[in-house]
Amino acid sequence: MDFMIEIPDTDQLLRLKPLHREDLVNETGVLPENLRHLSAVLPALSAAVGTPVPTAVHADPAAAQAALGLPSVTSAIVVLVDGMGYWNLAERLGHTPYLRALMNDSANARPIDTCYPSTTVAAMGTFGTGTAPGLTGMLGYTQLNPARDVISQMIQWTNAPRPEDLQRQPTVFEGIAANGGRATSVGLPNFKKSALTVAALRGPRYVGDVNPMSRVSKAAQAAREPGLTYLYARDADKAGHHYGWNSEEWVSKLEAIDHRLRVLHDEAPAGTLIVITADHGMVSIDPTDQVDIASVPVLSEGVHLVGGEPRALMLYCDGDVDPASVAGRWANYFGERARVLLRSEAVAAGLFGPVDDRILPMIGDVIVTAAARLTIVDSRIQNAGARAMPAVHGSATMAEQEIPLLIDVA
Ligand SMILES: [Zn+2]
Repeated sequence: MDFMIEIPDTDQLLRLKPLHREDLVNETGVLPENLRHLSAVLPALSAAVGTPVPTAVHADPAAAQAALGLPSVTSAIVVLVDGMGYWNLAERLGHTPYLRALMNDSANARPIDTCYPSTTVAAMGTFGTGTAPGLTGMLGYTQLNPARDVISQMIQWTNAPRPEDLQRQPTVFEGIAANGGRATSVGLPNFKKSALTVAALRGPRYVGDVNPMSRVSKAAQAAREPGLTYLYARDADKAGHHYGWNSEEWVSKLEAIDHRLRVLHDEAPAGTLIVITADHGMVSIDPTDQVDIASVPVLSEGVHLVGGEPRALMLYCDGDVDPASVAGRWANYFGERARVLLRSEAVAAGLFGPVDDRILPMIGDVIVTAAARLTIVDSRIQNAGARAMPAVHGSATMAEQEIPLLIDVA
């Protein structure tokens, strides 16, 4: 079957998208175009299964359901495939018969957007709470812990505040349970109590299984009862970071995921809504276009700590330094290759969605977003392996920011 979606050329896929404005509203609420966003997926699903959960960003879950085109059902399964960007998938559809058939359905033939930065920690908070990084405080792979003046690593949750202290938005799963509905999460047993789960995805009944195919069967089983089931798949992201997103290894993970999703479709009770999405896409780095802050004095000058990740940095300036001078030097150095914003500019532009006063000091004084294949690293804190990852994400290009929203009914 021919694929009916035209894939933009690489230059276009690697260009920065205009800033997403979660807060753009008209007289009836959030604009429908702004509802085609990861933050709207769980609120929309909560409405689709009859237990609508309004959030601090999406006051009207039924509007989110309509904007995303979800039918009303008694039971739904949402699958989040880590690192499966819309355009990454579109370029490899020859390997994915099930996903190809879904992508060829016109309702599924356009992407939705993830949050900024396009990275797992920020996206999981955004997805789980139906809000935005500026409210969840889950701002990137690493970020400042202001109480201790250290950088937290938010995947392992090291040097970080307790998850319940940092992330205070109710999750959509908690909301569904409070409405008398069922919410079930199916994942690895050791993710059940992980800090990331507690922060972003707390509330559902957790079903753990080490075997990926058994997790599929358990998700299909859970869907026999009315309510919402969540299933997470992480292999594609891992393979992408190790081998490159278009490597043999990545493609074979994608093939396995396609097969498991087909089995999910076959095993789920008839009438179950299946929604497949992701947290972010991936881009291949260019090793010749990597800048090491440690070896460029004009970049390290006045910078106390560096957070974020190589495609989306947060610079925390020395106390006696005007962040505008740091931003000026970085903007000069990178020119068109990166977008450099002061914190106030980034917040005013809605980059992190609405921002809680409590979260504001955790956002960098200067926010740097890499275009094309540029990566900006710091050899003082990142080892050679981390600096050499062949594929990364975090930036606001189409390749990283655009994710699938594939709708199927079993
Ligand atoms: Zn990743």
